[in-house]
Formats: sequence, C-alpha cells, structure tokens
Amino acid sequence: MYSFDYQRPADRAAAAAAIQGDARYLAGGQTLIQAMKLRLSSAERLVDLGAIADLKGITVAGNTVTIGAMTPHAEVARSAAVRGAIPALAELAGSIGDAMVRNQGTIGGSVANADPAADYPAGLLALGATVNTDRRSIVADDFFTGMFETALQPGELIVSVAFPAAQKAAYAKFKQPASRFALVGVFVAQTAGGVRVAATGCKGSVYRVAELEAALAKSFTPEAAKAVQLSPAGFNADLHASAEYRAAMLSVMAARAVAAANAR
Ligand SMILES: Cc1cc2nc3c(=O)[nH]c(=O)nc-3n(C[C@H](O)[C@H](O)[C@H](O)COP(=O)(O)OP(=O)(O)OC[C@H]3O[C@@H](n4cnc5c(N)ncnc54)[C@H](O)[C@@H]3O)c2cc1C
Repeated sequence: MYSFDYQRPADRAAAAAAIQGDARYLAGGQTLIQAMKLRLSSAERLVDLGAIADLKGITVAGNTVTIGAMTPHAEVARSAAVRGAIPALAELAGSIGDAMVRNQGTIGGSVANADPAADYPAGLLALGATVNTDRRSIVADDFFTGMFETALQPGELIVSVAFPAAQKAAYAKFKQPASRFALVGVFVAQTAGGVRVAATGCKGSVYRVAELEAALAKSFTPEAAKAVQLSPAGFNADLHASAEYRAAMLSVMAARAVAAANAR
C-alpha cells in the first residue's frame, strides 16, 4: 500500500473542501482499501465519510424510500421501513457478501464503485431509483455508464439514493460461492412506468434486459420469463460460467424472481 494522508471531516462542506486534488472518498473501505493494499489503486488523500451524520439513515416519505449513502447493507436488510415498502430491496441488501461486508459496506460505496457483479445497481435500475449527489440528481438509467464507470464527476459526493416503491418486485441471485457476488443476478419490478428488469453479473455493466421486459409486460409469470431465450453474445465468460450458461440462467433466475414477486 502506498502511503496517503487521512482526513475525517465532520460535515459535507469540510468533505468538499478536503476532496481537492488526488483524493478519494472512503466509505466502508470494502473495495477501496483492498485495492489500495494490492496497489491497484492509490490516492494522496482519503476523505473518510464516516463522521458525517447526515449521510446515514433511512427515511420513507409517501411512496419513496431514501437511503443515505453511508448506510451499511446490514441496516437496509433489517430495516422495518424498507421491508414494509420495498421488501425486495431489503432482501437484496441481505444477500450481499458476508456479515462483515454487510456491516462495513455502504450503498454509496457500492453504487459509486459500479462493480459489474454488484447487487445494488440491479435494484437501482429496475426500480428506477435516483442517485442524489451534492451537485444534482441522476436517474439510474443515466448513472451506470460502463464497467466500474458512472456518471459521477471527480469529487462528486453521493448523498443518498431514492427508490420509488414498486407494485411488485423481487431479486434473485445465483451466487459465486466464494465471493457471493452475482454470477447471475436479476431484479424484476412492476412499476408505475411498466415492467423493468435489470441484470448484474452477466455483462460488462448492469443493464436492462429488453427481451425479459417485453415478455413480462405481456404476462408477469415465471413461465413467460423462462420462455425467453437470450443470445449469449456479449455475456461474460470465465472459469465459473460460460456465456451460454449465464444467458440461460438469466431467464431461469428471472422466472424465480417473478414467482417470488407474485407470491408476496
Ligand atoms: C469479500 C467481499 C464480498 C463482497 N460481496 C458482495 C456481494 O455479494 N454483492 C455486492 O454487491 N457487493 C459485494 N461486495 C462489495 C461490498 O458490498 C461494498 O459495497 C463495496 O465493496 C463498496 O464498499 P464500501 O461501501 O466500503 O466503499 P469503499 O470501498 O470505501 O469505496 C468504494 C468506492 O466508492 C467511492 N465512494 C464511497 N462512498 C462514496 C460516496 N458517498 N460518494 C462518492 N463516492 C463514494 C470511493 O471513493 C471508492 O472509489 C463484497 C466485498 C467484499 C470485500
């Protein structure tokens, strides 16, 4: 690990002042510290967000669940408010990694990192969430721009993520057994704007699956999802799963998610 300067500001104004130059925000460190230890990543200064009280917490107002950027996955998983409004989102948070990762990792860090196999990005995209930063609000459709890439500008701070509750929703994940990241993860949602389906672990970035959305708009049933035959072109292939396997599993996992959403 290269040496770096460490700052822990008490509020957002101080964080914005500290993030100038070669500096990175530090949330739970679940990705950033590992990457820095391996010298895959470096920064002259880390700006720890852990002391900024208004980046934490969950609020529900009307139809919208808003989760502060520094809220750990474990808190979302056990939140009665989230379980009541969007149970699929609480279940997604509870499926992330192991207990330590869920207690240290944050929604802001996960979303900013945009790992192509991370769970939250599928939830954001399928539910039509909005990422609120210290500068603007970005809809999920515009936020995830590629592998580990987002619409965030240098130094832009995620403050919260706002999720509209869906009529029906569920997340199904086929886990890589060692890391518990998604080999294939799919979030299905019946929303005010129609059926939205987002997949993670399958391609270079989270994406909406047009073929599944079209089929489920006609018939929101497991049978309709399972009947969709996806081309493996563009799917990830590695030692854990071929592109053909991932493409086939995506329809299977979507069918399971639809069954779970209909069973609520
Ligand atoms: C063993 C292991 C297993 C895991 N399994 C899963 C899994 O199954 N599913 C899954 O989805 N994830 C998984 N993760 C990832 C984990 O869920 C974390 O959310 C993710 O690593 C981000 O960690 P963090 O919140 O600590 O952010 P950090 O590591 O502190 O930061 C990550 C990046 O986000 C930036 N950042 C952090 N907060 C903000 C903010 N508010 N605004 C702007 N930029 C910000 C940082 O500068 C950095 O670039 C796993 C991680 C580990 C180590």
